[in-house]
Amino acid sequence: MFTLISLPYAPDALEPVISRETIDFHHGKHLQTYVDNLNKLVAGTEFETMPLEEIVCKSQGGVFNNAGQILNHNLYFAQFAPNSLNANSLIPEPLAHALNRDFGSFDAFKAEFEQKGVSLFGSGWVWLSADNDGKLVITQETNANNPITKGLKPLLTMDVWEHAYYIDYRNRRAAHLQALWQIINWEEINRRYTNG
Ligand code: MN
Repeated sequence: MFTLISLPYAPDALEPVISRETIDFHHGKHLQTYVDNLNKLVAGTEFETMPLEEIVCKSQGGVFNNAGQILNHNLYFAQFAPNSLNANSLIPEPLAHALNRDFGSFDAFKAEFEQKGVSLFGSGWVWLSADNDGKLVITQETNANNPITKGLKPLLTMDVWEHAYYIDYRNRRAAHLQALWQIINWEEINRRYTNG
């Protein structure tokens, strides 16, 4: 059985960047629906006991869509921390060095990431990932896709499905993406980068 992840913060802790109402719908309804759908689809199949990462690499259709969305949202919701904890935080090493090395500067990285989020047509996700050599890359993934299917290790993501921002930002996707930097938990992103 797949289960809904618990949030590592209170549902209103990310305000005003992400409202409690958005968290309640996005985590409590959208993600819960993907979990319920996947459990129905995999019952009695080879996927029932597989890790999400493996399902995403081996499945297609409804199983892929729901497993991919669970994996994506699990990484998404676990990467945030309340603004107040994060306001003065420096990016930890070795991630800070890698961002400067591969994008020129932190500001250049943010600009490319936001541009790829804004220009992704339709629903999907923009990702920062690491390749096998630890080089950082930004990719656009449509719908439920995750960069692990390209052999990359996903580190940071922004959800550009309208359900992620329409309650708080309406059509202003760029403003939403720009605001999200305030609540990124860089310790968590660096942990993903250095893990394995
Ligand atoms: Mn979403």
